[in-house]
Amino acid sequence: MRAYVLATGDELVRGRSQDTNSAEIARALCGEGFTVCGMATVGDAPDALVLSLRRAAEAADVIVMSGGLGPTEDDCTRRACALAAGVAIRRDPEVESWLRRRWAERGLVMPASNLLQADVPEGAEVLPNAYGTAPGFVLPLAGARVYALPGPPREMRGVLADEVLPRLRALRGDADHVVRTRSLETFGGRESAVGERIADLMRRDAWPRVGTTAVRGTIRVILHAEGRSAEVAALLDRSEAEVRRRLGRQVFGVDGETLPEVVAARLLASGTTIATAESCTGGLLAGALTEIPGISRVFPGSVVAYADDQKTRLIGVPADLIAAHGAVSRAVAEAMAEGVRAAFGTDLGVGVTGIAAPDGGSAEQPVG
Ligand code: ATP
Ligand code: MG
Repeated sequence: MRAYVLATGDELVRGRSQDTNSAEIARALCGEGFTVCGMATVGDAPDALVLSLRRAAEAADVIVMSGGLGPTEDDCTRRACALAAGVAIRRDPEVESWLRRRWAERGLVMPASNLLQADVPEGAEVLPNAYGTAPGFVLPLAGARVYALPGPPREMRGVLADEVLPRLRALRGDADHVVRTRSLETFGGRESAVGERIADLMRRDAWPRVGTTAVRGTIRVILHAEGRSAEVAALLDRSEAEVRRRLGRQVFGVDGETLPEVVAARLLASGTTIATAESCTGGLLAGALTEIPGISRVFPGSVVAYADDQKTRLIGVPADLIAAHGAVSRAVAEAMAEGVRAAFGTDLGVGVTGIAAPDGGSAEQPVG
């Protein structure tokens, strides 16, 4: 079944706040075996919302939207859904008494405007909201169904889990259809070079879908397939094996594993100790390692030696070596690695030297 995700809010389309709801909803829908075929963000305007709702209803079987269920004039999801479905708005007596009770329990008098939250399009089923005052609803719309959820992320998440996902599971029945994504994390090749080696697998008519994306210095190869669970698993296994065959040792992990995590796991598993000496990176490498729980068993410490004379004073890089080769050189990087290994008494030493951006690079020694 196909799903469409909609977000509404003037703040979102003006770029003042970020639509995190839609990504969360889309992940949940994929997890339930729905094919998410589109997403849209619309301002708080009934006409624009009606247009988007109609388009979404043409493209998909279910529409899950968030926002615009508050009690103020700018909250127009109820009105827009009713318009798009061609139905009137009715006041739901159960929601009304629930709202009155909620306010009374807090010893407060409910402002008249809040009664608007008891309004739902004719033919809609109310989705209780245990996390706030705006209930959601589900409404048939031109052959599709729209599920309207409150905008605040905590409320959206709660109503999605409690009320929407169970209904979607029932709607889907026991159809054997899964949506699966697997990623292979690679290091050592530029995105274009990785792409060239798997170009035929990345063609838009190839299946499973294969794509790449750069993530903090590593290249992620993403495999995506949908269909019967056994077939999808076999397809992804075969595709993974093929990508691994082409990229070889560049593949260091799967499904979001990071380079520091994988390196740390190997060091910890083998009990290999490591120390780092950094110049231009100013401790980034040590920082990445120390984020890993338990790393102290194999990582006693690091030296940041930015100035040349500190490379000599702290980790014994010979001054004449720096004079002969320059601080940014293979010889000095090696001497830093050797020096820090000796200083900490570890199995491995790593030396990092380079030219920090933005200035100071040359043709022979580019920045970075
Ligand atoms: P309210 O009763 O608060 O008015 P609502 O259902 O009308 O609820 P909105 O007014 O659209 O929701 O948004 C309320 C708050 O929820 C916004 O201030 C915003 O921070 C957050 N929010 C709304 N939509 C999103 C979204 N798509 N992603 C992340 N946060 C959102
Ligand atoms: Mg609002």
